[in-house]
Amino acid sequence: MKKLYAILLATIALQLSGCATTTKDSVSGVKRSQFMLLPAASIDKMSAQAYTQTIKEAEGKKTLNADKAQLERVRTISNRLIAQVGVFRPDATKWAWEVNVEKNDQLNAYCMPGGKIMVLSGMMDKLKATDDELGAVIGHEIAHALREHGRERMSQAYVQQFGLQALAAFVTKGAAGGAIMQGAGMGSQLFFALPNGREQEREADKMGLELAARAGYNPDAAVTLWEKMSAMNTGAPPEFFSTHPASANRIADLKALTPKVRPLYEAAKKGTAK
Ligand SMILES: [Zn+2]
Repeated sequence: MKKLYAILLATIALQLSGCATTTKDSVSGVKRSQFMLLPAASIDKMSAQAYTQTIKEAEGKKTLNADKAQLERVRTISNRLIAQVGVFRPDATKWAWEVNVEKNDQLNAYCMPGGKIMVLSGMMDKLKATDDELGAVIGHEIAHALREHGRERMSQAYVQQFGLQALAAFVTKGAAGGAIMQGAGMGSQLFFALPNGREQEREADKMGLELAARAGYNPDAAVTLWEKMSAMNTGAPPEFFSTHPASANRIADLKALTPKVRPLYEAAKKGTAK
């Protein structure tokens, strides 16, 4: 009986919110069904709050957008990528995208749910990333947001922590789910605390590669980016590197997909050359 109840609950939850895919299938072939229990609106709201907080702290330290040329460069590249997100999900073209640069020697970049991008200046100052490489790394991060990997991770953590009873409460209370989650201390810090899984990383690699190609960034740069990261992985590993291991598999997968997206890159370059 208990088992039946659990199955019933799980079925309800899946019907209400569960196994959907957040993005449209495209050349890169990302189409896995995802477990999405928590409402996107709650996740996006929390992320926006956390992002605003980060911005405020950086302003206080005078590390926000300190280098105007660098900011301009990152915004230009990001905007070209953002202009292509409709291919994967039309609703994302209406997101309240924000792009900022924080002066910080770490090699890191992220895009929070709902399109809040932050690039740390170490990517430019230390890694000396080219425009194509920045297109690759920002494209990868945007892909995580388009696939809503943050919401997926938090949904999984929620069920693991609170179990199916809480899930039932969530289903019956609907929109109150966000409040329940916050009450339980599952704020947006989880965005940073829960690393992306291997499959999520693979998806972000694939979709990011396609996104960058469509925006006119050379897909080969995804490989050189990982190689440069690997070369810098001496002593304390770069922050980005610790959550994004540049395994031989990763590079091999990127290389295998590159021929598929290269026509998109060539077409985009022709388009901008006009
Ligand atoms: Zn990633």
